Amino acid sequence: MATKALKGKIGVTTENIFPVIKQFLYSDHEIFLRELVANAVDATRKLQALASSGDFKDELGELKVSVELDEKKKILKVIDRGIGMTEDEVDRYINQIAFSSAGEFLEKYKDQMASIIGHFGLGFYSAFMVSKKVEIDTLSWQEGAKPVHWTCDGSPEYSMGEGKKADRGTVITLHLDDDSEEFAAKGRISQLLGKYCKFMPVPVVFGKKTEWKDGKSVETDEDNVINSIEPIWTKAPSELKDEDYLKFYRELYPMEEEPMFWIHLNVDYPFTLTGVLYFPKIKERMAIDKNKIQLYCNQMFVTDHVDNIVPDFLTLLHGVIDSPQSDANVKKISTYITKKVADRLEEIFKEQREQFEQKWDNIKLFIEYGMLSDEKFCERALKFALLKNTDGKYFSLEDYRTAIEPAQTDKDKNVVYLYATKPAEQYSWIEGAKNQGYDVLLMDCELDSHFVNLLEAKIEHTRFARVDSDSVGNLIPKEDKVKPEMSEDDKKTLDELFKAVLPEGNDYMVDAQNLGEAAAPVLITQSEFMRRYREMSALGGGMNFYGSMPEAYNIIVNMENPLVAKIWGGKKEAADTAAADFAKDNELLHQVVDLALLSNGMLKGKALADFIARSEKLLQ
Ligand code: ADP
Repeated sequence: MATKALKGKIGVTTENIFPVIKQFLYSDHEIFLRELVANAVDATRKLQALASSGDFKDELGELKVSVELDEKKKILKVIDRGIGMTEDEVDRYINQIAFSSAGEFLEKYKDQMASIIGHFGLGFYSAFMVSKKVEIDTLSWQEGAKPVHWTCDGSPEYSMGEGKKADRGTVITLHLDDDSEEFAAKGRISQLLGKYCKFMPVPVVFGKKTEWKDGKSVETDEDNVINSIEPIWTKAPSELKDEDYLKFYRELYPMEEEPMFWIHLNVDYPFTLTGVLYFPKIKERMAIDKNKIQLYCNQMFVTDHVDNIVPDFLTLLHGVIDSPQSDANVKKISTYITKKVADRLEEIFKEQREQFEQKWDNIKLFIEYGMLSDEKFCERALKFALLKNTDGKYFSLEDYRTAIEPAQTDKDKNVVYLYATKPAEQYSWIEGAKNQGYDVLLMDCELDSHFVNLLEAKIEHTRFARVDSDSVGNLIPKEDKVKPEMSEDDKKTLDELFKAVLPEGNDYMVDAQNLGEAAAPVLITQSEFMRRYREMSALGGGMNFYGSMPEAYNIIVNMENPLVAKIWGGKKEAADTAAADFAKDNELLHQVVDLALLSNGMLKGKALADFIARSEKLLQ
């Protein structure tokens, strides 16, 4: 007996629902396919569950979801062999629940629509974003069920009646809208299936596999299954080998270099979370592509913007997170993932130290970024972060301190960590420090000036000094400096003397010191603090107070050096000549200053040419 065809009007809130859907969801139209395939997959899984509980006793047949496209007629079908729906169910789930709840939902979240929709979708409803007419043909698994045909052309009116479907399951037929023609192309549908359905837990078929025959591609009889139904994150870590993780990584990111480590997330309580996170090689922060972690919900792709789910520094990782819960647990998930990442790094640090050191240069930026931005991670990472010295040796923070403490503790009981940022340019300074029995760290990464500040704050009685920030004897002062005795007038004269021959445009502080006969006559250093502020301002971008100030240098004049003594003696004799005039013609003074500039890479252009000419003359 045929059921009377029903016509109905869909709830009060729906008069304006289609325009609203189209307007708000504009950028995310493509998710309709994910939603329909996900429903088909759900219906299939429900049937499987009924079969295993014994409620369903018939033949299951081949359980798959098929997507069929008629490019010419612009008709797209999603077909499943799942539980199907009775007329009553269509009425409840599609006519009432779906429509009315969608109405309320839209009303409530109108403003945040664009972001919400991408994450949760609107289920069946989203079909109307791309269709002028949608049909449902369905036959429930239940005994004696009748096929149902439902159709709606996008106006709030639907019609429902007995259909013709003879086998169990559901067919959703979309008559694509003219302005959604893009979805009437096989390539586009393939791409969307690849993006959203690649790991869904039931085989999804789109057309037939093709093969090359006589120089052209022809269809075979074999179904083209576009997904793998058991991606590795659904398996137990104990079943998996390194090769499996690497293979999966290549599947996700065919263009990327091999990852260094990975973490298998697998938790049931207090929330469910699975996934695999990979550590890519990171060399430069600027080159990092952040949206590489993919978020899934029960094997259905949701988004690759996981900013809310993992702390910022972890967005540098690659991989997959599958999290079926709602928003409420996001904070907990984020904390959990941070902890897992720290656990794993600590484990590698402890158990595979050599590997950890080998890979350090490539994870250093990641770990420093994490330590700088996440307090909890920082506390953990202080245990496994490494320091690398200019000889290429690696130390844990604790070991390093033990190693340098005896030689590098200053008179105020601070342990002074020396470091170089550009070893080639700072070569002579590094050598000088080493000859003194000091160790010099390498801090050449773009976050290092921040990192140095962080370590000073985290490790008590610690000071960092760049190796060229003072004369080697003063880098780690063991006792108060013995200053040469000079009258205020003499100090002023010395100041004028040197400033007269130094390049213009910078600020100089001339400082007389006794560094011994063998030490260089003049040293040019830059205050550690000024330099660090300047570097950090540069990193922060834009100009600010420190960035726009002239460079400031300390000019350390070694009064015990014989050349300085000679110049100074000469000036004393010519007491009546103004310092600037005396300086102008004094070749020796020019020469010692130029040598100091030269060793700092500051002698350029005409000044450099003059220096060379003068040197040749002095050698004759
Ligand atoms: P959701 O999937 O979030 O529940 P939908 O609007 O997508 O919302 O679907 C509403 C309901 O319609 C589903 O919960 C399900 O009961 C039913 N349904 C949708 N598609 C199918 C299908 N292919 N087979 C069986 N039932 C379906």
